Amino acid sequence: MKEYRCFIGGEWVTARSGELFDSVDPFTAKVWARIPKCDANDVDRAVEAARRAFDSGDWPALNATQRGHLLRRLGDLIARDVDLLAATEVQDNGKLIAEMRGQVAYIPQWFYYFAGMADKVEGAVPPIDKPDMFTYTRHEPLGVVAAITPWNSPLLLLVWKMAPALAAGCTMVIKPSEFTSASTLELMRLVEEAGFPKGVVNVVTGFGQDVGEAISTHPGIDKIAFTGGELSGRRIAQQSASNFKRLTLELGGKSAQLVFPDANIENAVKGVVSGIFAATGQTCIAGSRLLVHEAIHDQFVEKFLELARSARMGDPMDMTTQVGPVTTQPQYQRVLSMIEMAKAEGATVALGGKPADRPECGDGWFVEPTVLSDVNNRMRIAQEEVFGPVLSVIKFSDDEEAYALANDTPYGLAAGVWTADMARAFTAARRLRAGMIWTNTYRAVSYMMPFGGVKNSGMGRESGQDAIYDFLETKSVWLAF
Ligand code: NAD
Repeated sequence: MKEYRCFIGGEWVTARSGELFDSVDPFTAKVWARIPKCDANDVDRAVEAARRAFDSGDWPALNATQRGHLLRRLGDLIARDVDLLAATEVQDNGKLIAEMRGQVAYIPQWFYYFAGMADKVEGAVPPIDKPDMFTYTRHEPLGVVAAITPWNSPLLLLVWKMAPALAAGCTMVIKPSEFTSASTLELMRLVEEAGFPKGVVNVVTGFGQDVGEAISTHPGIDKIAFTGGELSGRRIAQQSASNFKRLTLELGGKSAQLVFPDANIENAVKGVVSGIFAATGQTCIAGSRLLVHEAIHDQFVEKFLELARSARMGDPMDMTTQVGPVTTQPQYQRVLSMIEMAKAEGATVALGGKPADRPECGDGWFVEPTVLSDVNNRMRIAQEEVFGPVLSVIKFSDDEEAYALANDTPYGLAAGVWTADMARAFTAARRLRAGMIWTNTYRAVSYMMPFGGVKNSGMGRESGQDAIYDFLETKSVWLAF
């Protein structure tokens, strides 16, 4: 059994309480690692270390180009250790090794991209309207940034915060999900090896209600970059108002896939299947509502069910597995109870709808890929995030109705549009209220493209050129002659 320590002030330390908690492998349902159970005292230690590193020592002495070199070195080390990092994530959250190798191998690009940006942050010299004055602006690092991350893509979602924060010159206190702390701690070995000064990056492990709350109320933290559920996001926003922390919130979704009658059906079927069943539906961008035109509804659903039925479930470490377990036991129970709720509301189970009783699923928390028909958009199943392999199918009869249905949720993270008509594609991109619109594709991400949502899906964007400015303050400087 592996026993981890947390990483504070450049040292590998136990929690002050000395306590540990279990990390469970969702495929075997067995404990595979023990993680330090930190509390508010450990958060204090980490914030002190991050504040010290921000204010004095080697980190502020580095210029932006040198910071970029460190980020590049960290990217190279991650590229070297892809197999270890990917396998750690699979063990912790049950995602497929086939997907995780590719995802972790892509992570260095965020470090390379923001490394290149570190020394291209330039202030402005406005042609000021006062003849006896000279003015300019400077962009300065915000200070100590906390990253609070969920269990579904622990490293990727951390790196979206870490790369721009460090490029900007901030220091960090990181709190991974209590369900998946291991890969973040493995990453700290690489932070150490890359040569980041002590205290620049700190990790405190533990639970949301103690470590998370201690972070959101801590006066020594200047910004929280959060990815997780809507309720936690709301709580963090309220608590962090105590010292007006800057906030980026990447929350949940109830994203729609709109399939128009002119769509290439084969491609759309594949895109909608992977949009909901990849990562066992445990992605914030899961395309969990299929809106399909009535003229092609029956044909589309038939092909969809055929493909979904053939999905291979089983050991996530097997390269041929297509659907893995649900990551946590509470989430497993929640997914099943939401299916029951949908049935009680009048939805019909067209596929799955129950725990997967297959020998290849062992003791893992598997739910059969589930398709619900006879859903209307007012049902809770069409409005609330399931975060599991559950698709609701809804018919529409014209484009206006499709946009109205797609927009009729409290969320606005993503939408998929399947059409061969480019005019319709552009119209849909304009009409859909969501942070990301994928057309004839789904789930693509890039370090160059902003990621984030509108409405209850959160605020702020990660990735892309502007992301670094979320970790900078603008200072206006005035000089009179
Ligand atoms: P969660 O909100 O339960 O936990 C996320 C993190 O917040 C964990 O580290 C947790 O310990 C911490 N936390 C919980 N309560 C807290 C509190 N009161 N104060 C401070 N921290 C607290 O979410 P989860 O179950 O780990 O992740 C699933 C959710 O994340 C889903 O809703 C999903 O849609 C969302 N998500 C969003 C994105 C995005 O980019 N928009 C990406 C992935 C996941």
